[in-house]
Amino acid sequence: MTADVDSIVIGAGVVGLAIGRALAMHGHEVLVLEQHGLIGSETSSRNSEVIHAGLYYPTGSLRARLCVAGKQMLYRFCEDNGVTHKRCGKLLVATKREEIGKLEDIGATAKRNGVLDLVPLTQAEAKKLEPEAQCEAAYLSPSTGVIDSHGYMVALEGHITSRGGQVVLNTRVDGVTRRPDGLFEVTTTSDGQSGVITANRVVNAAGHGATRIGRMLGFKDGYTVPATYPAKGHYYSYAGKSPFQRLIYPMPQGAWLGLHLTLDVAGKAKFGPDIEWKDEISYHFEHNDGEREATFYREVRRYWPGLPDGGLQADYTGVRPKIYRENEPVADFAIHGPELHGMAHFAGLYGIESPGLTSSLAIGEMVAGMVA
Ligand SMILES: Cc1cc2nc3c(=O)[nH]c(=O)nc-3n(C[C@H](O)[C@H](O)[C@H](O)COP(=O)(O)OP(=O)(O)OC[C@H]3O[C@@H](n4cnc5c(N)ncnc54)[C@H](O)[C@@H]3O)c2cc1C
Repeated sequence: MTADVDSIVIGAGVVGLAIGRALAMHGHEVLVLEQHGLIGSETSSRNSEVIHAGLYYPTGSLRARLCVAGKQMLYRFCEDNGVTHKRCGKLLVATKREEIGKLEDIGATAKRNGVLDLVPLTQAEAKKLEPEAQCEAAYLSPSTGVIDSHGYMVALEGHITSRGGQVVLNTRVDGVTRRPDGLFEVTTTSDGQSGVITANRVVNAAGHGATRIGRMLGFKDGYTVPATYPAKGHYYSYAGKSPFQRLIYPMPQGAWLGLHLTLDVAGKAKFGPDIEWKDEISYHFEHNDGEREATFYREVRRYWPGLPDGGLQADYTGVRPKIYRENEPVADFAIHGPELHGMAHFAGLYGIESPGLTSSLAIGEMVAGMVA
């Protein structure tokens, strides 16, 4: 039997689109199926839009390797395709003397990860670059930047369609099975109508929905599809003109990067995300009787003492698809191909939180190779 289509990617977030693009570039006929009416309307449109340099992640991890490789691919892609971005750089700041050791440890990890452009700064040198920032010492990361993530996703979609592929919206995947003849059968609902599409290859890039989809397939004994745990983050934006030219990041706390200041491509400043472990996904902004705002003022003023009262405005939220629970060891990206789960031509992606946007093109290449 021949399949209806060569490859199906489930989920048109930035990662699904980058995988769809990579498959299309390798000559596969691709359908990207998305349940919503717009591409990238879950995690991919609720993030910080930072092109990360790859400073923090454990050396040798997928997060470190795919971030460093993906960053370079992403800058090149933006330049070649006219995607708005800014290589604005960031300051990683130690706001207390006790944090300087941690700052130096991050510098050492970055070097091991292949990030060789970090510039150590004294308090006076940092002040010269960003007069409003308060710190004892800092690193300048020149290869950190920001991107118009929606423009990037539109460009990825363009690459898919110009190679004969399609991104099909308003189409929810309800079932995936592997038939005895080796084809995948994907059951969908689209405008209330159900349908079945067969494919030679399937990639599960469904973000928060990936665990549910992964569990529909029968894998070899001993392989378990990772569970996903939502961890919500809130953002505040700055009401006035930002006095900063670069992003400002305080010291991370465990795997959480702290309440940092980022800029969008137009230069507007925002702060966050904080972190709260949840039982379910909701994008509702929770004010907590003013407690959240007070925490943001306190934490941001550690590196920006001049933040004026009334400067913060509640903005939006995003939810990280974590594959570990609070207080458990931090997990790497889980990008599972046939070698791990034993099913040829299938790949599942779980826990693709930050730096998934930065890593997306490198993830695309990796996954296209896995299901080839
Ligand atoms: C608060 C926050 C800040 C972040 N900041 C950064 C950053 O600054 N830099 C960076 O590099 N990364 C960042 N990230 C990470 C980055 O946003 C994610 O790694 C990336 O967006 C994940 O993309 P995705 O395509 O895997 O998932 P998603 O964007 O969630 O896409 C999955 C898609 O699958 C669809 N789907 C799900 N189930 C089904 C189904 N059954 N049928 C059809 N479609 C389905 C969904 O509708 C969705 O559109 C951040 C993440 C968060 C949460």
